[in-house]
Amino acid sequence: MLKDSFDRIHNYLRISLTDKCNLNCTYCCPVNMPKATFSRKNQMSAEEIDTIVSVFVKEGVKKIRLTGGEPLIRKDAKEIIERLSKYPVELTITTNGVYVHEFIQTFNKAGIRSVNVSLDTLKKEKNYFISQRDEFKRVTENIDLLLKNNFHVKVNVVVMKNVNDDEILDFIEWTKDRLVHVRFIEFMPFTGNQWSNKKVISHKEILELISTKYDFIKLLNDKNDTSKKYLVPNHQGTFAIISTMSEPFCSSCNRMRLTTDGKMKNCLFSKDEVDILGALRNGEDILPLIKKCVDDKQESLGGQFTPNYEITDASKINNRSMINIGG
Ligand code: SAM
Repeated sequence: MLKDSFDRIHNYLRISLTDKCNLNCTYCCPVNMPKATFSRKNQMSAEEIDTIVSVFVKEGVKKIRLTGGEPLIRKDAKEIIERLSKYPVELTITTNGVYVHEFIQTFNKAGIRSVNVSLDTLKKEKNYFISQRDEFKRVTENIDLLLKNNFHVKVNVVVMKNVNDDEILDFIEWTKDRLVHVRFIEFMPFTGNQWSNKKVISHKEILELISTKYDFIKLLNDKNDTSKKYLVPNHQGTFAIISTMSEPFCSSCNRMRLTTDGKMKNCLFSKDEVDILGALRNGEDILPLIKKCVDDKQESLGGQFTPNYEITDASKINNRSMINIGG
């Protein structure tokens, strides 16, 4: 079992399959700085991912999420999904949705039942502005395709002031006749993403805005949930808020991360990383490294800032860009 010094049991592993993406969302990809893309030889191979995962699973990991970059652009994405499907874990994926139509069968075969798709706007032109690519039609069609195939679909919306906060109510309306679970994510600071506290719309502000038009009820949360869930009566779908900046949920955190170059991070905001892939390639036992990484986990937010986002100085945070971590 992987337990940290604050008695938090870690049983959820998020694996970045690549630090490359076919979209170019500014809040995720560094602006005006070179993207640290790793060459194939520095990247975990399908076989290495499988080997590393087998160690985590023996230590009690029950849930694995594949992410990136965009996990589905990796040429061996299907092989990786198939390999991981043999483990007794809940296998899930976070994707921008562009290639989902090519993976429905693979997901079904691998027992993937829940898919997170990122979509920050319901407007085609704005989608182009945010992602710098013309994929709105494909993504929205693929969300509908997932729903048609009975997947549990969560739609991730990063809310940014004066970018898409005017669409919060539209997203709620969107859940009326669609069994989709919209998750509003507070904008988080990462290297190169031009974060500013002025661009954050907090959990409280989102709820206040929604209450101007809708009644809603709070749903019960599971123990390790990062999102606070709500239901508008008579809507098929639900909405939730991920309040990392204004009300973090570190005390119940059960998550660990592997970057595509095989570095383990014990927190999205941790500055320290442990080279699991390097150790594996040297023939070392990786378990002690994994245990130490978990044990070294800080109490909250990687020890880098406090929950008061109004005074957070993003320039002092020492981390990778989101695309290089794997969200
Ligand atoms: N390419 C996939 C996708 O688009 O979902 C997976 C990787 S992406 C980094 C994972 C999630 O992180 C997405 O839902 C994205 O919206 C979210 N994300 C990226 N940068 C963020 C930021 N600065 N603040 C909050 N969420 C962010």
